[in-house]
Amino acid sequence: MLLGQKEDAAVQNNPDTTLITPTAPIATATHGWRAKCLQRLVRLDLPVPRTVALSFDAVRRIGEDEMPDIDAIMAQFEPGALLCVRPSSEDPDWGGPKAVLNIGMNDAAYVELSDTIGAEAAATMYMRFVQSYAVHVARLDPDMFDHVHGDGQLGLSETLFAYEEEAGEPFPQDPAVQLSGVLRSMARAWQGTTARLLRQAKGAPADAGLGLVVQQMVPGYGPGECGSGVLQLVNSTTGLPQITGRYLSQSQGRDALGAGAGALYLEKDPRGPSLEELAPEAFEMLKDHARLMRRRLREEMQVEFVIQNGEVFILDGVRVARSPRAALRIVVRLVEDGIIPPQEALMRIDPHSLSELLHRQVDPEAARDVIGSGIAASPGAATGRIVFTASDAQASAARGEPCILVRRETSPEDVRGMHAAVGVLTERGGMTSHAAVIGRGLGLPCIVGASSMTFDMRGRKLIAADGRVFAAGDVITIDGSAGEVLAGEPPMLEAALDDAFQTFMGWADAERDIGIRANADTPEDARTARRFDAQGIGLCRTEHMFFEPGRLTVMREMIFAETSRGREAVLARLLPMQRADFVELFCIMEGLPVCIRLFDPPLHEFLPTTRTGQREMAEALDLPVSDVVRRVEAMQEYNPMLGLRGVRLGVTVPEIYDMQARAIFEAALEAGRDSAPVVPEIMIPLVSAKREVELVQARIDAVAAAVRAETGKNFEYRLGVMVETPRAALRAGEIAPHTAFLSFGTNDLTQMTYGLSRDDAGRFMSTYVQQGVFAEDPFHVLDTEGVGELLRLGVERGRSANPDVILSICGEHGGNPESISFCRSVGFDYVSCSPFRVPVARLAAAQLAI
Ligand code: PEP
Ligand code: MG
Repeated sequence: MLLGQKEDAAVQNNPDTTLITPTAPIATATHGWRAKCLQRLVRLDLPVPRTVALSFDAVRRIGEDEMPDIDAIMAQFEPGALLCVRPSSEDPDWGGPKAVLNIGMNDAAYVELSDTIGAEAAATMYMRFVQSYAVHVARLDPDMFDHVHGDGQLGLSETLFAYEEEAGEPFPQDPAVQLSGVLRSMARAWQGTTARLLRQAKGAPADAGLGLVVQQMVPGYGPGECGSGVLQLVNSTTGLPQITGRYLSQSQGRDALGAGAGALYLEKDPRGPSLEELAPEAFEMLKDHARLMRRRLREEMQVEFVIQNGEVFILDGVRVARSPRAALRIVVRLVEDGIIPPQEALMRIDPHSLSELLHRQVDPEAARDVIGSGIAASPGAATGRIVFTASDAQASAARGEPCILVRRETSPEDVRGMHAAVGVLTERGGMTSHAAVIGRGLGLPCIVGASSMTFDMRGRKLIAADGRVFAAGDVITIDGSAGEVLAGEPPMLEAALDDAFQTFMGWADAERDIGIRANADTPEDARTARRFDAQGIGLCRTEHMFFEPGRLTVMREMIFAETSRGREAVLARLLPMQRADFVELFCIMEGLPVCIRLFDPPLHEFLPTTRTGQREMAEALDLPVSDVVRRVEAMQEYNPMLGLRGVRLGVTVPEIYDMQARAIFEAALEAGRDSAPVVPEIMIPLVSAKREVELVQARIDAVAAAVRAETGKNFEYRLGVMVETPRAALRAGEIAPHTAFLSFGTNDLTQMTYGLSRDDAGRFMSTYVQQGVFAEDPFHVLDTEGVGELLRLGVERGRSANPDVILSICGEHGGNPESISFCRSVGFDYVSCSPFRVPVARLAAAQLAI
């Protein structure tokens, strides 16, 4: 009885060795995914050969030499039937030992099978079994069969002889002995150290169990159309409907997949013969089975099948392997076909995997010539010629030549070069270093902390770990998703923001209960934010605007001005440019909230660091070089990130904030002239004391009053505070009553809570993570214990002092799914993240709400 489900009492009464029937007590948690899947196929009445499932407990005992009743297992199958054994762990990704086919082959079976399927095929099956038994069960050296060259009977004799020579005994003839040997070897293989480490790396618990399924073989050899293959209804790379797979006549197992040109196509194909032409009825039947499996198992399945004299058998079904873009299209089609609800589709996609769809990527099938690696700081892939300076990047862009900007680290001076480059590679830095933050903001592939390579900036050379030298002008590729630098130009896949993506994200928005805004500094960022349906801008860092061509010199003049009047006069020249920046942002965002952060960095970041730069500055400002050098030196700080920056500038050099506030108000009036009024949000950075807020607020209110008086128009605005020093979090209770919102800047807050420089931590972060000091890079995944406690305190104290205060997070953590979960649980109203992380955040937030 090849199919059918009549049970033998000894097997049926033993939950450890269970014949798979529609009602047998089989669960993934006790027998593994394959056993459970086979039971589902049996329930669908598909032609599945008889199968006995061995539970995790049974297999564990087999590993300890406690054998189940082998005769009872064999009694489930036709007398003399050949068997195969396959692994069945709880999760298919955890792997398992290789399947062993044709158990039961011996001299007698060979003679018998020679009559039915021919001597050649019988010999092949026997040889195949002896070889896998030798390697996996008897643990003999696989090379021992190297000298077996014959086919058919000759090859078989050679194989049996080699076995006997090496093992010191003839090949075992008793099928029960063979089966117990196979079961024991598979149980032990699962316990091996390598197998254990491999599956633990894929998330398996230390005590993960292995189940086994013993299935009656359908040979795949013999008269009429016989063979084996796999079929699926979608393309694994694109996710679009397409019947794909391979079939090989006179074959078994997964032979068809390794058969190269020998295998047949499934559907009619101009490139060669197909199963459809060879056995049209079987092909139709197979498609029907596959469609039934898709509908009832609620998943795209790869069907493993055998055709025996025209009759179709289903041996197995596995979830179709898929690229991230295919994964999304597959779930969307399952919803559209009424097979799963949208909520389930949302839960099936890993938010992290979405970022691959939003960018170009190196074709996963392509060969990779890796020349270095570092921290994957901004996803996507880009190919270009190496340039070592921002001005070379601009020159390259002007020539229309894509380039990769290679720097030790980047500073605001490099931003123009980053705009001009297609990718960035730095020797130093971590997830929140300058290059990483700007790279993510621009959607620019970026690798930082690539210290495995030598950056010879003087010699303008990049030297790979293996000694290969890449000079300026050489072509390399940055894979910012994998953190790998590749030589040359591998094939790429384009971004996939198609209808399926939009539909899917729409479902996510319907579920989530926390707002998502984008950090956007430029019109391009803002447009990306809109494209990804961000609900506004949560952080516009204004300092980048002062690096635009034509503005830097004015900025430097302002910094060098001796008096408040002098500063105001220079700032008046920046005002129209800044106002134009904001008008553009407000117009792009069309009434969605825009939160503008006042100037934050230390002023000396705008001053030149090289001799040439200082000479140019002296020329532009009509000053002696020595004056410039002296003033630049006088402005140096020992700890600039803890020095004169943020609100401290607002208090000591208030003209800058005055100008920015005026630019914001005038822009809001202009942008709101022909549409609904714009209500800008203004945010004060690096606050640590209530009095700082009071001082800045008084001046901004005064500017607002002046603009109202000058224009005769009224407008509203909201003033908020960035909580990014530990003191601001602790004192949120006294700060909140003065503000409309508190936005937690977790980059600086992490830096200051740990006393860990965000620009230097990359150098030792991997050692710290490897040694378990930090579970993860705290600049990447929010430290919910330490930094999180400060957030919690800030939220509680802020909200109880001002119940209407809007709470949000705008550090890089805002786009990290694990961190969003924390933000939602402590009661934030929204998170704000780099534009390209907005879709990831939207999905992560939806999953939390389902
Ligand atoms: C922060 O510190 O978290 C923040 C958003 O500001 P920046 O990264 O510009 O310092
Ligand atoms: Mg900050």
